[in-house]
Amino acid sequence: MLIGVPKEIKREEYRVALTPAGAEALAHAGHEVMVEAGAGLASGFTDDFYENAGAEIVQTADEVWERAEMIMKVKEPIEPEWPRMREGQLLFTYFHFAASEPLTRAVIESGAVALAYETVEMPNGELPLLTPMSEVAGRMAIQEGAKYLERHSGGAGVLLGGVPGVLPGKVLVLGGGIVGVNAAKMAAGLGARVSIMDISLSRLRYLSDVMPANVNLLYSTRYAVRKQLEDSDLVVGAVLIPGKKAPSLVRREDLSTMRPGSVIVDVAVDQGGCVETIRPTTHGDPIYTVDGVIHYAVANMPGGVPRTSTLALTNATLPYALTLAAHGWKASCTGDAALAKGLNIVHGEIVYEGVAEAFDLPS
Ligand code: NAD
Repeated sequence: MLIGVPKEIKREEYRVALTPAGAEALAHAGHEVMVEAGAGLASGFTDDFYENAGAEIVQTADEVWERAEMIMKVKEPIEPEWPRMREGQLLFTYFHFAASEPLTRAVIESGAVALAYETVEMPNGELPLLTPMSEVAGRMAIQEGAKYLERHSGGAGVLLGGVPGVLPGKVLVLGGGIVGVNAAKMAAGLGARVSIMDISLSRLRYLSDVMPANVNLLYSTRYAVRKQLEDSDLVVGAVLIPGKKAPSLVRREDLSTMRPGSVIVDVAVDQGGCVETIRPTTHGDPIYTVDGVIHYAVANMPGGVPRTSTLALTNATLPYALTLAAHGWKASCTGDAALAKGLNIVHGEIVYEGVAEAFDLPS
């Protein structure tokens, strides 16, 4: 199969859909790989790396889109890319259709086959192509939080790990899923005092078996959250209720009970956030302050560490790309129920219920 990897053109997107290692694996399996010139640069991969891995470097996005049977991307196609999508072409990328009716209509009209990373789903409900980005965002939440706790960033001037004779900082993690666990692990590794709050007792039981001793597991009630906030230096929002807006666990009136210069990193901002005063920010302008508390709410946190994110994402997508390239989307999806769940739009028809429901379009 001829696989094309265009450069990402969405603002602040520096990842690339395929690493040189992935290009080599596909080429080794007998496929042709085309990479747009410069596509990997922001992730640290020059064109030479791809050429040495057996890929062809092409100069324009138009050529990649025109020739490729399967397009591999990171972000959903944005408007300038819509006219390039072709009838029968397989598009393997994040789409998040429910967030954009114009995108949904554009893909329907193109006649392409849209296999969305975010809906590939294992029988146990795990989302293997979303997990790596939650891992990145969870870990990054502590790195960012620690940075903004520093005095010159406007923070309270707290070192999360403390030093002998001085208490470590306190980190409160709301939600003990993938983001929450990764944040807690990082904070615990720094030596902070960490609390994870969740409403799933079975999840808390599991975490109590695997988390280090400096992580407390607490049941999440409004009362308990309010109490914990009073002496937390860093709060990480990591709650998810699938398909719904995140609940506001931290309310405006709670901010005045927190120490001035404490920091909230609301990773759940892409689902509306779990803090009443949160609004999405960007890597270029990541924070703002409300009632003395610093708010960080970058909606695409993994984009800030594109090298790590590219490697993590492509580790997860490559096995599927190899299958799709070898057997085509139809046979691959027949043979793999998890991959089949990724099909959202096929030749102009919506085949994923959630997308049809979002816009009242026929499926
Ligand atoms: P997850 O499903 O693995 O975990 C969510 C957890 O929240 C679950 O354990 C659930 O029991 C818990 N929860 C639900 N209601 C709660 C409540 N009232 N109190 C406490 N806990 C509660 O989800 P995840 O993969 O960890 O993702 C968390 C959020 O982070 C999602 O909104 C996701 O989209 C977002 N995310 C954002 C970025 C970014 O760049 N900003 C990147 C990746 C993920």
